[in-house]
Amino acid sequence: MQDFTYDQPPARIIFGVGAFARLGDEVMRLGARRALVLSTPEQLKEAEEAVRRLGSLAAGIFPEAVMHVPIETARDARAVAKRLDADCCVAIGGGSTIGLGKAIALESGLPIVAVPTTYAGSEMTPIYGLTEDGIKKTGRDLKVLPKAVIYDPELTLTLPPAIAGPSGMNAVAHCVEGLYAIDGNPIISLFAAEGIRALARSLPRVVEAPGDIDARADALYGAWLAGTVLGAVSIGIHHKLCHTLGGTFNLPHAEVHTVILPHAVEFNRKAAPEAMRITAEALGAQDAARGLYDLAARIGARVALKDIGMPADGLERAAELATQNPYANPRPVEYAGVLQLLRNAYNGIRPN
Ligand code: NAD
Repeated sequence: MQDFTYDQPPARIIFGVGAFARLGDEVMRLGARRALVLSTPEQLKEAEEAVRRLGSLAAGIFPEAVMHVPIETARDARAVAKRLDADCCVAIGGGSTIGLGKAIALESGLPIVAVPTTYAGSEMTPIYGLTEDGIKKTGRDLKVLPKAVIYDPELTLTLPPAIAGPSGMNAVAHCVEGLYAIDGNPIISLFAAEGIRALARSLPRVVEAPGDIDARADALYGAWLAGTVLGAVSIGIHHKLCHTLGGTFNLPHAEVHTVILPHAVEFNRKAAPEAMRITAEALGAQDAARGLYDLAARIGARVALKDIGMPADGLERAAELATQNPYANPRPVEYAGVLQLLRNAYNGIRPN
């Protein structure tokens, strides 16, 4: 047993099929009476449904959330919140919408009720991101951590397999890196292992039978655990590479996670044997890296960077950027090893 510090902020989770019906109760519980509902343009219908459920507790809708929270969108949303005299935000959607809620909370301190509809996990973290002049800056502030999270598997039924699969692998990545985090602890490791187990058993069912509500619930349960892990401990080479590739080459967030994860795990294989053992066991596989690759392939996700928009001549630049200010990681992050990792990921080679 290694020494550890356990320091978890409080969390209020309402989980269940139909839990969305409790939105009004959760807003009132915060003492709020004028909720601003946030969504992407694609999820305006869900935002309108939230307003209908909120009745007189709704102050308005801002359906303009987009990926990576551009500062201009954040400024517009903050202005709307002020103009409507909002006293809380309801963020219904994935990481992009919840990220917009966080941008408002960062400035104003408005509490957030999050209603996540993907598996990205942002609702459980005090991490925010804002993109200005093409550069995404992230930070941590407890102010942006949602005060209540409503997980309703019914809201994920519309998540198409092509988004659900990679989004679930994004959640698996949070769990895997939590197992070898320098500031890990035994409780978070339990969350991480259980998260991998839940996602590994549910994601194939989610993509094969998208209407299976039990599978959707199981995946969302895994996503909650994964988000908790991400919010609690630090991240390593995998997330660093994904942030670099996403930011510099504008690759899609969840897909990058899906492609990189087996290779990041392969990179860390010898340096984190216990994390490898737990990951493999939770996947029901012989080997962690191969098990993750096979899970991604089984859910029909793309497994090569070259298939998700990565330019071949960008690999050296990516390796340079990822090794400049590396996050703490079990194996030292050096250029040659990272370049090899990226080459393998570029070609979608199954780890051996
Ligand atoms: P997203 O929020 O960008 O959503 C992707 C698309 O799917 C959007 O068009 C959205 O409207 C749609 N969608 C979402 N749920 C749906 C549903 N149930 N049915 C149909 N369509 C649905 O994607 P994401 O992967 O959830 O979030 C990615 C963003 O979140 C990135 O910017 C990432 O950096 C950020 N993120 C932040 C944290 C954090 O802790 N701060 C954690 C994870 C991700």
